[in-house]
Amino acid sequence: METAKELAKAILHKAPIAADKDPAGTEKAQAFCEGYKAFLDAAKTEREAVLEGERMLLAAGYRPYVRGMELKAGDKIYYVNRKKCLLASTIGTRPLADGLHINAAHIDAPRIDLKPMPLYEKDGLSLFKTHYYGGIRKYQWVATPLALHGVVYKADGTQVTLNVGENPGDPVFCINDLLPHLGADQNKRTLADGIRGEELNIVVGSLPFADEEVSDRIKLYTMQILNEQYGITEKDFIRAEVCAVPAAKAADVGFDRSLVGGYGQDDRSCAYTALMAEIECKTPSFTTLCVLTDKEEIGSVGYTGLDSDFMLNYIRKLAIDFGADIVDVLENSRCLSADVSAAYDPTFPDAYEAQNSTFVNRGVALTKYTGARGKSGTNDATAEMMAYVMDLMDEAGVVWQTGELGKVDQGGGGTVALMISKLGVDTVDIGVPVLSMHAPFEVTSKADVYNTYRAFAAFANSNR
Ligand code: MN
Ligand code: MN
Repeated sequence: METAKELAKAILHKAPIAADKDPAGTEKAQAFCEGYKAFLDAAKTEREAVLEGERMLLAAGYRPYVRGMELKAGDKIYYVNRKKCLLASTIGTRPLADGLHINAAHIDAPRIDLKPMPLYEKDGLSLFKTHYYGGIRKYQWVATPLALHGVVYKADGTQVTLNVGENPGDPVFCINDLLPHLGADQNKRTLADGIRGEELNIVVGSLPFADEEVSDRIKLYTMQILNEQYGITEKDFIRAEVCAVPAAKAADVGFDRSLVGGYGQDDRSCAYTALMAEIECKTPSFTTLCVLTDKEEIGSVGYTGLDSDFMLNYIRKLAIDFGADIVDVLENSRCLSADVSAAYDPTFPDAYEAQNSTFVNRGVALTKYTGARGKSGTNDATAEMMAYVMDLMDEAGVVWQTGELGKVDQGGGGTVALMISKLGVDTVDIGVPVLSMHAPFEVTSKADVYNTYRAFAAFANSNR
């Protein structure tokens, strides 16, 4: 005769807390996240994530992929798309026609981009005009130190790399806000309108050029410093990509150091874990494909977004090299679409439906569907694909949970799962739950980051 307690344990389900289910994992997660925090600091833009990822791949013995190169099981290759997307593979023992194990994450993150003609002077300050990138809550980006990252091309074609505000002794930059004493009118705005797009102006200087005869002396002096330090002119900003990102470094959060706080964890928590699982995979059954893509935050558009064919073309080239039919390759492939989920926030319970939310410290989040307004704009993974991934994770002892993005009709979102499933690849969403998603300082649980890595490693090494 079973007790009610035994019966409940046997037939009811609640996602366990990682520290209970896998006590030894707590320490391993701490160690794993030291590398993760270093990655967050080194890779604040998609370009930097590609450079850092490429450095890691080369150190692990990966070779740049060239069409027609000799490849055998266990070989490791990578390919870079326009300095903004990274693809890496380990050749499997099975024929390519048996399909790939694809793990796709994105390396762009919400931020503040400079306009093509950014520099201007007004009332004693020189400032940069900006156009924000991705879904930000604008009020979160004011009165906080910002760093400038990017590339500028000069007329002679040379590339200048900009990275100011990260190193000790560097100046930082900021967007100002009104003081509360004069906030009467601004306080009447809605939160969404509290800071407007055209108010996201970055302070970059205040001293004038030492000649009272010229106009716009502060702008001129700022531009003179840029010209002296980088050899660039105002026109060069037109052929540049410069972003303002939070200057703060990733840090442990909490007395128990159980959480990681830092910028860009959507989706670099999944990018880093996917890359580490790829790197550590030795001779898999199925050829792996780790995809780190750009432009997810603005709809995966453009030729560095996954809605373009850059990943498909890479698979096409491999298929030709191996004499495999591309249709067979795609139809037999599986994909873990690795993106973050919204972690339940006890301060804002009304936005969530607790039973179907993901929580920090309950492991990697498996998400059947995303989307909004009646699952619109989602890849709704099949029950069969859910069964495959659940089984894979249970077998490997991965701590995992499931959930969807908040209450029905509260909002919603989409991921790259849609673009990959469009190719006929079995795809499901999976990733790290995040608090304060898209804020300058996002928060994740180390146990969840670690278990996300373990899930990806189980998939890369799986023989089914
Ligand atoms: Mn994301
Ligand atoms: Mn996002």
